[in-house]
Amino acid sequence: MNKYVESVLAGVRDKHSEQPEFVQAVTEVLSSLSPVMDAHPEYEAADLLNRMVEPERMFTFRVVWMDDNGKYHTNRGWRCQFNGAIGPYKGGLRFQSNVNESIIKFLGFEQIFKNSLTGLPIGGGKGGSDFDPAGKSDAEIMRFCQSFITALYRYIGPDVDVPAGDMGVGGREIGYMYGQYRRLKGVWENGTLTGKGMSYGGSLLRPEATGYGAIYYLQNVLHHFNDDIKGKTIAASGYGNVTWGVCKKAAELGAKVITISGRHGYVYDPDGVNTEEKLNCLLEIRASTDGTIKDYADRFNVPFYAGQKPWGVKADIYMPCATQNEVGMEEAKAIAESGARYYIEVSNMPTLNDAMSFLRSQDHLTVAPSKAVNAGGVGVSALEMAQNSERLVWTAEEVDEHLKAMMANIHDSSAAAAEEYGLGYDLVSGANIAGFSKVATAMMEQGVF
Ligand code: GLU
Repeated sequence: MNKYVESVLAGVRDKHSEQPEFVQAVTEVLSSLSPVMDAHPEYEAADLLNRMVEPERMFTFRVVWMDDNGKYHTNRGWRCQFNGAIGPYKGGLRFQSNVNESIIKFLGFEQIFKNSLTGLPIGGGKGGSDFDPAGKSDAEIMRFCQSFITALYRYIGPDVDVPAGDMGVGGREIGYMYGQYRRLKGVWENGTLTGKGMSYGGSLLRPEATGYGAIYYLQNVLHHFNDDIKGKTIAASGYGNVTWGVCKKAAELGAKVITISGRHGYVYDPDGVNTEEKLNCLLEIRASTDGTIKDYADRFNVPFYAGQKPWGVKADIYMPCATQNEVGMEEAKAIAESGARYYIEVSNMPTLNDAMSFLRSQDHLTVAPSKAVNAGGVGVSALEMAQNSERLVWTAEEVDEHLKAMMANIHDSSAAAAEEYGLGYDLVSGANIAGFSKVATAMMEQGVF
């Protein structure tokens, strides 16, 4: 490993030992950058890597809200404005009880490179709260969102920082946040948030974009091997917005998603999650306050495996779509032994570092990284910003064309970056190098700060 990379990594590990997810994400990215640092000594001279692993700013704030019984609750909110070298900070908000500084920072760090890969002018940011939306009424969600944005509204804006959804934050939450933002600022600045409803400046296809983009990326990988998606079986995890989009596009292209999962176990549906009724069932479970993925198994009379993950199931392609660190060494071994040829990460950082190294070392397996595969979501968010600033609405076909081209470009530029440094068809290193290079160039050109 390049000495400079090694010393920066050692510093991050030392300084942030209490932020394991952040250390993990930094390790994953920086491990790919040795050849770049060898070729560009000017980056070390400018101490570029130490600048990159430190957020430009990050803040926490108090979010107080009242439940339906008149009782007050206090949560913590975060926003990390990690890197604004190539555009306004851009990234989602995650509402989940396990959210902490380490999780927000890892997501913000990943977002820098992901957003750069889209080819669009968006910097990296992320935010959220340790608020748990499960079981909350609509009125409670509204009061929480209003309180959250009251604390944050001064620090965001269409040219400053543009939040969006992530886990626990969908169209409903974005609506309540935008309503409060508009009330507070008294201006029509709908480019401040993305993932909006269509009635006030949302983009067609934004809800589908992450899942559709992941399947388009997969098609590019298959194309590289003269392979085709038709007839393939896919083992996926999760049952939220991203998994839904993956199932929908896979079905349209003649592939079958045979597993989906939740916190309590996984569903095996050998016929595939591919009818309108099944796809809608995912949406219904997500929208209900007490629904679980087992409801799907009961309704369609397919097996449910309580307390298990789907990685032992035989499939042609594995696509973890649920959350970070869902694939450790044990799961990675099951995936490698299954004989599948494609491991396509979708959720942000689903694979632990050692499991990732193991999977990448398997000759029969092609591994694609989440920061490239799931970039279609934020990419279409950037298209939403463009539509908002132009005050017009693109057709679904136009957005889809852009999304397809974007995913092809992300795949091709990653492959080309790996090739340039003599790494062969290495989509993981390639994505890190390609994403890094644009941000690095912008930082160098803008001088030291
Ligand atoms: N939360 C999504 C992500 O992880 C989307 C962010 C956005 O649209 O700004 O990329």
